Amino acid sequence: MSVNIFYESDTNPKLLADKRICVLGYGSQGRAHARNLADSGLNVVVGLREGSWSWDVVKGDGLEPAEVSEAVKDADIICFLLPDPVQPAVYEQHVAPNMKKDATLLFAHGFNLHFGQISPPADNDVIMAAPKGPGKLVRDLYEQGQGVPCLVAVAQDASGSAMQTALAYAWGIGGARAGVIETSFAEETETDLFGEQAVLCGGLASLMKAGFETLVEAGYAPEMAYFECIHETKLIIDLIYQGGLKKMRRFISDTAKYGDITRGPRVVPAEAKAEMKRILGEIQDGTFAREWILENQCNRPRYNALLRKDEGHQMEEVGAKLRGMMKWLD
Ligand code: NAD
Ligand code: MG
Repeated sequence: MSVNIFYESDTNPKLLADKRICVLGYGSQGRAHARNLADSGLNVVVGLREGSWSWDVVKGDGLEPAEVSEAVKDADIICFLLPDPVQPAVYEQHVAPNMKKDATLLFAHGFNLHFGQISPPADNDVIMAAPKGPGKLVRDLYEQGQGVPCLVAVAQDASGSAMQTALAYAWGIGGARAGVIETSFAEETETDLFGEQAVLCGGLASLMKAGFETLVEAGYAPEMAYFECIHETKLIIDLIYQGGLKKMRRFISDTAKYGDITRGPRVVPAEAKAEMKRILGEIQDGTFAREWILENQCNRPRYNALLRKDEGHQMEEVGAKLRGMMKWLD
């Protein structure tokens, strides 16, 4: 399946000229979006919790802070740049009772919409604009005249121009300078969850732990295991990030390459891929979402216990010691 990609010339920034944009949350994404939108000449208000310490930060950045329930009142576009687990309660308590009937609701991740944790009335446009990078990069590149590629999607199109609004917003945060990819709330949510579970966070952490443990259990020094199985992943990832497997394989030795292509597939055999498909199935049928929502409702006992277990892993202790010898890393 191919995707639609849009650029600045495909957007109509004038659509936002007389609109008031309310950015909820001033964390990684919120601060970057709010500042970029304001520097793009748009009318921005930042919605914060009562007594939030971000109040002075927002003012220091030359922007206007307000409490969430006030900030949403006259907003044409309300951006949910809050942590995903708190969004449903903020929506119920502060946004829904105060928002304009035809306000556009904008998300940077589809979880709450796709899994029915927020269900806006049919009068509202519901759109997504999700930069494919952390907030700091979204801001830094904007200041350099560049942008981070951005996903856009439409879940509800009451106005008939929801996609145009999403594209104009992507222009406002600088994403259209790099390119804007059209997706759906379902596709963004399911691929995002799968990526972080199977590859980026879950897969990678488990791969590194298993490699580290294999060497240590065979009697090798934990320091050596740390360098080989954890520290050096950065060099390899940077090469793949810049130029794919091809560039990585140009920089490693022939011995490393032969080990890579003959042994790699044994580490991730067909059974691993079959498990990935089961993990994807649990995402698609809502099993994962239900589990995570319930976990949050009972104060995260499993989440806390499993994280605590990894905090005590030998790889973390050795890593801290070795990173102390490499002050240049921070
Ligand atoms: P964050 O944790 O960095 O920031 C969230 C902000 O919301 C913080 O300033 C926090 O103080 C504030 N907040 C928390 N509870 C609140 C409440 N009850 N009322 C008002 N404010 C409250 O989160 P983030 O990483 O910027 O994520 C925001 C959204 O962007 C999420 O939907 C996330 O999935 C999405 N997203 C994040 C990234 C990323 O790289 N961080 C990338 C793409 C999309
Ligand atoms: Mg993710």
